[in-house]
Amino acid sequence: MGNCSHFHPIFCILPPHILQEISTRGTPQQATWARNTLNITATLRENRQLAISRVQSPIARVLNGKDRVVYDASHSDTLPGTRVRGEGDGPSSDVAVNEAYDGAGATYDLYHDVYGRESVDGKGLRLDSTIHYQTNYDNAFWNGQQMVYGDGEESLPADQRIFNRFTIAIDVIGHELTHGLTQYTANLNYSDQSGALNESISDIFGSLVKQRSLGQTATQADWLIGKGLLAARIKGVALRSMKAPGTAYDDPILGKDPQPATMKDFQNMGGDNGGVHINSGIPNHAFYLMALEMGGNAWEKAGRLWFVTLRDKLRATSDFQECANLTAQTAGELFGNNSLEHQAVRKGWADVGINVVAIPPVSPPPTTTDPAPTPTPPNTNPGCLAAPATSLRALGKRLFGGK
Ligand SMILES: [Zn+2]
Repeated sequence: MGNCSHFHPIFCILPPHILQEISTRGTPQQATWARNTLNITATLRENRQLAISRVQSPIARVLNGKDRVVYDASHSDTLPGTRVRGEGDGPSSDVAVNEAYDGAGATYDLYHDVYGRESVDGKGLRLDSTIHYQTNYDNAFWNGQQMVYGDGEESLPADQRIFNRFTIAIDVIGHELTHGLTQYTANLNYSDQSGALNESISDIFGSLVKQRSLGQTATQADWLIGKGLLAARIKGVALRSMKAPGTAYDDPILGKDPQPATMKDFQNMGGDNGGVHINSGIPNHAFYLMALEMGGNAWEKAGRLWFVTLRDKLRATSDFQECANLTAQTAGELFGNNSLEHQAVRKGWADVGINVVAIPPVSPPPTTTDPAPTPTPPNTNPGCLAAPATSLRALGKRLFGGK
């Protein structure tokens, strides 16, 4: 039995601890499904390096805008499967096809229309999705190249299911595609705190895809991840809660949601790559707190400053403290030091037990009116892919009308 390795990770929506609980608490049949899902994931991990080498090969791309293809694995393990819907094709009679297509579209739209990014790689990568992967497969994942969705136990009567189909929750689709976004930007190591940040960033943008598609403000949103995924008989509302980590489910088969909300309950652990799906509750909750403090639509301000931080500043080894420092720095650059947004970021992190340590802001380029311009390195944070001040200003101008 295995789970995601941080060397060649397969980015699954369902954490291994849930599957392990099912394998010990479920019926013999449910335990078999859970073990199969864990074993399939372990096999996929072995193939991950191949996928990486293909993704990183210098393929010439044509920027055609939004480009989605949905494939059907017909319950096999063959990827990508048979092509069933391409960009611009009409809806299918299969609801999973349409959910995969629409969810990929909503994710593309958030990245493109709000943050000005051309797909997950910034170069127009086609968004490929495969549905009906295997039989009774309890997971969805990004394999470094494409999205893959299992059906849960939808082939069985409702009273025998644990999970519904994994395309049912648009935030799950946004979560998985955001693993692609992270792969092409900060490429956060998938273990310990950097891995928990990797997971948290997927939850954050997954939730923002859902909030934007529903037109919900930060106050109106439920901040749940994977609502609708748990079968009706399961005692729980979702896989995770950004609003109240640790409260998403408490069920005889699944166990209890183990996520901490603050550093006081941070879990040092070996499993789950050092708790990447567990401790992600802490930055998740920090984001929720700062988005609520800023008000309005969470994808516009809080989402933007996290997007810029992910794209330009976070690095593979960033931990929670560095992420806190860098998101606060970005808030200062985009909205002004001591602006409401800057203060909201500091407060959100402080409320989960992390105090922001100020990083000197990136200095503006000297102008002719400067009395004594002092040469300043463009990046005061060695190792980070910091954006030049000019691109940050251009970004702010595009979004906030020159503010
Ligand atoms: Zn994930």
